[in-house]
Amino acid sequence: MATITDVICPFCGTLCDDIEVVVNGSKIESARHACKIGNSKFLSINDIPRPIKPLIRENGASREASIDEAIAKAAEILSNSKRALLFGWSSTSCEATAVGIEIAEEIGGLIDGTTTVCHGPTVMAVQYVGLPSVTLGEIKNRADLVIYWGANPMHAHPRHLSRYSIFPRGYFRERGQQDRELIVVDVRKTDTAKIANHFIQVEFGKDYELLSALRMIVNGGELEEEEVAGVPKEKIIELADKMMNCQFGILFFGMGLTMSPGKHRNIDNAISLVKNLNRHTKFSIMPMRGHWNVTGFGEVMTWQTGYPFAVDFSRGYARYNPGETSANDVLQREEVDAVLVVASDPVAHFPRKSVAHLARVPMITIAPHHSLTTELSEIFIPSSMVGIEEEGTAYRMDTVPLFTRKVIDPPQGVLSDVEILKRILEKIREMR
Ligand code: SF4
Repeated sequence: MATITDVICPFCGTLCDDIEVVVNGSKIESARHACKIGNSKFLSINDIPRPIKPLIRENGASREASIDEAIAKAAEILSNSKRALLFGWSSTSCEATAVGIEIAEEIGGLIDGTTTVCHGPTVMAVQYVGLPSVTLGEIKNRADLVIYWGANPMHAHPRHLSRYSIFPRGYFRERGQQDRELIVVDVRKTDTAKIANHFIQVEFGKDYELLSALRMIVNGGELEEEEVAGVPKEKIIELADKMMNCQFGILFFGMGLTMSPGKHRNIDNAISLVKNLNRHTKFSIMPMRGHWNVTGFGEVMTWQTGYPFAVDFSRGYARYNPGETSANDVLQREEVDAVLVVASDPVAHFPRKSVAHLARVPMITIAPHHSLTTELSEIFIPSSMVGIEEEGTAYRMDTVPLFTRKVIDPPQGVLSDVEILKRILEKIREMR
């Protein structure tokens, strides 16, 4: 038995870095400090049967193949494609994404991540109006007003409140929760809203209006309407007052804001509200990023291509036009003739029309487990789990980079995403 300390949990964008993993040979006995979902990811290693051998589908049936054969066939499909889509990346390391981008450039393909269906609108809004950012550590030490808007961390990021926002004692918030106020804005009373000091129920699709009303008050205007977005005028004035009069405020927002009507304009308005608030006090804003390294995908994409997601190399240079070059758009226009999926399950989550096209084209999937996507894939190459069986760099939701630790060895013969992708790239270069 050995205890490995300071392990980073590779599940959600909170990237808790205080996990203590007890290992017994190749078995994980426990993952102390992890929340229920983080814990189940670590312990799933023991319970879920792991595929070891690559699978190749031929004439409607799958057969086992050697890793060399699977890599050669994957390279052949990608090399012969005219417009391949390389998708996923939010649950693997930055090092793997870096190689994926090289492959996309080499074959003139498109590369996109799960950002495209979660915080893509956030990234676009940041390009318009910037981001008054902050780290989670500063929030823990300073924040006295915490707002979650369209986010339910009690379910999606269970330790976010206890490690960074509400419950921990901070340098300037010595009494922890007693020194802070929690406000939740959402369309329904979520479990996070149930523990909040104040819950503001906004009408579905009306977040933009409520944000605009708050901006009007913060900027010295008067609200003429008795109600905006289903929220009474006095409640909006009270919220604006709390925001302007706190010492250090933080607005966390989730997909309730990014994926409801208004999309990137909602985020543009929320960021602009925070900018306006900084005339009165110190206020910041942060997206609640979901998958553990979805932030890292955007960072690496931006270093290497100049753009954060939905990049098309078909003209020989990086081109970015979400709505045209994003994964669902190219799939639904049936433009893609091959797909490489890494550490993701688009078949389980994409709209029916996109999945119908995924089923028509040759798809290669690199992932640690079977999924609906591996079932539709022509080639499935099992890989090790980054953050448990491999080290790798990941970015926390506040864009702080952390190096995830390896706690056990992967099953014999199973390679890492980076190694598989490097070998595919090498083969493609040989073929071209
Ligand atoms: S909050 Fe997120 S990162 Fe932290 S233990 Fe839970 S799943 Fe893992």
